[in-house]
Amino acid sequence: MASPGIERVLERIHAAELPDFADLTFVLRVADPAELRALFGFADAVRRESVGDGILLRGIIEFSNVCRNTCRYCGLNRRNTHLARYRLTRDQILAAVQNICEAGIKTVVLQSGEEDNLGADWLTEVIAGIGRSLDAAVTLCVGERSREEYRAWKLAGADRYLLKIETSDPGLYRELHPGMSFENRTRCLQDLAVLGYQTGSGNLVGLVGQTIESLAGDLRFFKQGRFDMVSVSPFIPHLQTPLATEPAGDLMMTLKMIALTRIVCPNAHIPASTAIGSLHGRDERPRALAAGANVIMPNFTPNPVRRLYDLYPGKTGCDLPPQQSVAAIERMAAAMGRGVDYARGDAVRLKGASGCDPSRSVASSDADLAKGQCNSMYAN
Ligand code: SAH
Repeated sequence: MASPGIERVLERIHAAELPDFADLTFVLRVADPAELRALFGFADAVRRESVGDGILLRGIIEFSNVCRNTCRYCGLNRRNTHLARYRLTRDQILAAVQNICEAGIKTVVLQSGEEDNLGADWLTEVIAGIGRSLDAAVTLCVGERSREEYRAWKLAGADRYLLKIETSDPGLYRELHPGMSFENRTRCLQDLAVLGYQTGSGNLVGLVGQTIESLAGDLRFFKQGRFDMVSVSPFIPHLQTPLATEPAGDLMMTLKMIALTRIVCPNAHIPASTAIGSLHGRDERPRALAAGANVIMPNFTPNPVRRLYDLYPGKTGCDLPPQQSVAAIERMAAAMGRGVDYARGDAVRLKGASGCDPSRSVASSDADLAKGQCNSMYAN
């Protein structure tokens, strides 16, 4: 039997405006099987209550692996000269979008490395092209850009943006991201929220130098950012990176972080990430779905470039045609007594909003921006 202590702590974390550091580190250190069951059961109940039983699908197109950055964990880092680089054309992207639509999925995620030569106008055209051809939400995940570029993409029809903070610990962030700045990353997150994007962030679990305290800081960062989406995934070492010989992130710690993210941010859409499906060569996504997650992102990047989006080794689903991935997710959901939800799956805060669709609105001047919603607090 779990001690009544853990239930009380979980209730307190759930109710808190900003959860207590000590409560979070206490739960992150839990190892007793009964207490772990209590944690996952609590998170699963919060998930059911806030976002329901349906598993939302997001079709992802990894349209370019070109990157200017040297993130120490990432296989796309520009120092990896073993990797052939590619960028899909607009028509190739639109063909992949068509496949997503035919699978009945209503969110398209466009992800890439951070490319110096990725023209903002080119991406604007791609977004507008998607909007003209179908009624699907467009999520971007293309890294740090200027507010003006974010605004142009929003006006072209982008609905959502994912930008993981990776770690909310500024010192650790600096060590892992040479030449980048924590301040610019939080500036981007703030601009995105103010511009009216449904905004997502997230972290990596198991980074060298990361502590329980810094994971607790990540959870407080998620709460303060009021993100619509939060992705928690394990670090997986890539041979062509400076972290090649480091151990992978721990599955149990990743599941605890997912459960706590659900309890801290009840309304967030939380993926059972591809990295969880790839860790140790086993697909552990059902365990993430049972610990608070409610989203899966099947891969629609076309062959032969799909293998070249090489963030980390052993990416699950890389061999399967997208239709088969979706069928496998259907079976996974059914085996858990849940189902796949083919809705757009917008941010919960936008549900039931009257009048115009707020997800379509965009602040068009700095004055509007100043009046807009502002997720202003990122300090731990
Ligand atoms: N350039 C974009 C997209 C980055 S790739 C951006 O900055 O947002 C998408 C995600 O892959 C990253 O946010 C990171 O969390 C994850 N990733 C990169 N390397 C990884 C690794 N070795 N193990 C697990 N996840 C990794």
